[in-house]
Formats: sequence, C-alpha cells, structure tokens
Amino acid sequence: MILRVEHIGIAIKDATQAEDLFRKLLGTECYKKEAVESEGVSTFFYKTGDTKIELLEATCEDSPIAKFIEKKGEGIHHIAFETDDIEAEIARLKSEGFTVLNETPKNGADNKLIAFLHPKSTNGVLIELCQEIK
Ligand code: ZN
Repeated sequence: MILRVEHIGIAIKDATQAEDLFRKLLGTECYKKEAVESEGVSTFFYKTGDTKIELLEATCEDSPIAKFIEKKGEGIHHIAFETDDIEAEIARLKSEGFTVLNETPKNGADNKLIAFLHPKSTNGVLIELCQEIK
C-alpha cells in the first residue's frame, strides 16, 4: 500500500541557483547529491520535516528533465509516494486502470526502487512509486 508522500520532484535549470534558493527557503543544506546517469539527471535532496524535496537538473540534452523544461518550464515534475511493496502496488494500480510506465521497478536515486505512472492516467501529475532498497 501507499504510505506517504516520500518526496516532491522539482525540475530546475540551474542547480547553483536552485541550491541557493532552496537553502534559503528551507533553512537547510542539500544533504545528498546524486547523478542518475541512466535517467540523464543530477538530483539534489533536501529534508523538510517528514518529507523531502528532490531537485532535478538535466545532465544531457535528451534527458527527460530537459524535455520537460522545454515543454513546460521549471516546476513540479513529480510526486513520489512511498510504498511498502512496490511490485504489489504496480499490480494493484494496473488492475485499477492506471498506466504504469515501469512494469518492473528500476533503480532510482536515494537507494530506491522506483516506477512511474503516466500523467495521462493521473490527472496530469507524474506519479512515482518508491520503496527503499533494504
Ligand atoms: Zn523522485
């Protein structure tokens, strides 16, 4: 089942500018930076209470983040929900009619298995399911 909002992903153009902004906004430093080469992104994590903000910067021109920014500009890219069993959730949501983009979970940033739901099946919001790799 879905447990909580684990993080909110925000597409940014310039990590130097955005890191400064989010440090001021949240009053805390970025605690983790991680490149996910398979996705063409660099990620920057901030903790705020029980949840996190994940800044996403493209590392190449054909990165999904570069395409997102080209189409929509900077802004909220996805909402990630933590699950206790990502494979069971993928199966459940598929049977409920959602379009699952990753039938097999893949490795994401922050030591997680992740899978996405297509925004056309979720009122225009890209949804990430995630589960910590134990
Ligand atoms: Zn994410």
